[in-house]
Amino acid sequence: MEVRTRIAPSPTGYPHIATIYQVMFDFVFAKKYNGKFILRIEDTDRARFVEGAEQVIFDSLKWFGLEPDEGPVWGGEYGPYRQSERLDIYQKYAKQLIEQGNAYYCFCSKERLEELRTKQQKEKKAPMYDKNCVTLSKEEIEKKLSSSIPYVIRLNVPKNQKIIVSDVVAGDVVFDSSQIDDQVLIKSDGFPTYHMGVVVDDYLMKITHVFRGTEWLPSTPKHILLYKFLGWEDSVPKYAHLPLLLDPEGAGKLSKRKGHASVDFYKQEGYLPEAVLNFLANIVWNHPDGQEIFTLKEFEKAFELEPFKMEVKSQGARFDIRKLEWMNGEYIRKMPDEELTKRLQEFLVDHPAKDRIAPLVPLIKERIKKLSDFIPLTDFLFEKPEYDLSIFEKLKIKNLNEVLNKVFEDLKVMEKPWKSENFEKTFRNFAEKSGLKAGDVFQLIRVAVSGQIVTPPLFESVKILGEDEVIERVNEALVFLKSNRVA
Ligand code: GLU
Repeated sequence: MEVRTRIAPSPTGYPHIATIYQVMFDFVFAKKYNGKFILRIEDTDRARFVEGAEQVIFDSLKWFGLEPDEGPVWGGEYGPYRQSERLDIYQKYAKQLIEQGNAYYCFCSKERLEELRTKQQKEKKAPMYDKNCVTLSKEEIEKKLSSSIPYVIRLNVPKNQKIIVSDVVAGDVVFDSSQIDDQVLIKSDGFPTYHMGVVVDDYLMKITHVFRGTEWLPSTPKHILLYKFLGWEDSVPKYAHLPLLLDPEGAGKLSKRKGHASVDFYKQEGYLPEAVLNFLANIVWNHPDGQEIFTLKEFEKAFELEPFKMEVKSQGARFDIRKLEWMNGEYIRKMPDEELTKRLQEFLVDHPAKDRIAPLVPLIKERIKKLSDFIPLTDFLFEKPEYDLSIFEKLKIKNLNEVLNKVFEDLKVMEKPWKSENFEKTFRNFAEKSGLKAGDVFQLIRVAVSGQIVTPPLFESVKILGEDEVIERVNEALVFLKSNRVA
């Protein structure tokens, strides 16, 4: 049997990082068993449809290197892969369910349903449809249909049955069918609901394993019923409901409002896709060898469905962005310089001098955690700094102007081209004579040439700027200090 997994996002907004988290499991699991990973677009909620969202999903999968084997633009023999293009299929199975008595037409008006809900709320009962239309006679149904009264098709959920969902993560979960609502399967606009669409498509697309968020677990008994009614019991996929990604600080789910829930955030901040995937795998799964850093391929190799070694299981997975930052830094440091240069060039779309990035890479590699950190660290190499008095005031030198003036004089007479040892020796001697710490003098030079406290190594930066530019900047810093009446 071929392993076939799928992700079934709804194009209702920009993709959440939790979608990628699910895709990662689907993808890795399919690859591990030489199976197929499928992308299906569940676009049946027309009210929530967002134009362009589908493309953003495609782009995100591509960015993470998690491209499907089958899908809307990828093709495949089980298409179409957009639910909106499969409406007649759902109608066919809905009709079958009606004929079998497992589903029924419901003509109840919005007002009646509203009244019912209010009544149930008052009686402190869970809101549930009261099966009012299940007893309609064939003739009554025909009459209503021919007079075009709007209708939905509902699942006829039997009472008092135990429905067992065998979940790879949660184990066997038992549901009481009496608590399950007669779910709408086909809406009044002719579109299926999620439940109808997901079952029909998972079956027809021969899906064998479903990795999805634990929030879908309560829906699964409805799906199991549908499989049973449609005679597909033997094809129920293996379910693995993944722990939710939790906000590290607060209670609850990682929310989109918190910024880092959206996939775009990671691209914009300069996280590496492979580091994000490693991080996502690591928060719910323990590598058998205890290592924290592992590639997707290594994950694929070591990941076993049973026992599914989940560190946190149903309690959810804390999403600590600081940990990701650390991990991203580790990936950057391990990356060959040429590769890092390439990534930076791709990331820094509007950078004024992309060809000047490569020589900086060895200088900044140890100092950045994200690609975006490159900019504040190296900006001064491409344009003159804007001085800020408070930064000079952080330095441990009292008579700044006077000291910098002497530095200026020394720089002017230093033999060109400047050599590292000579530069070092000159200012060490200078510090000693002036009763200053050498480190403080170098820090003053750093601020004078860059306007900032943290830069790549000083002498390397100085060499990149060139002797004349450095002398000019020190002079400009002097002018700045004078104009601010710093002694
Ligand atoms: N369309 C659902 C979603 O948006 C799919 C859930 C599932 O994987 O079954 O997440």
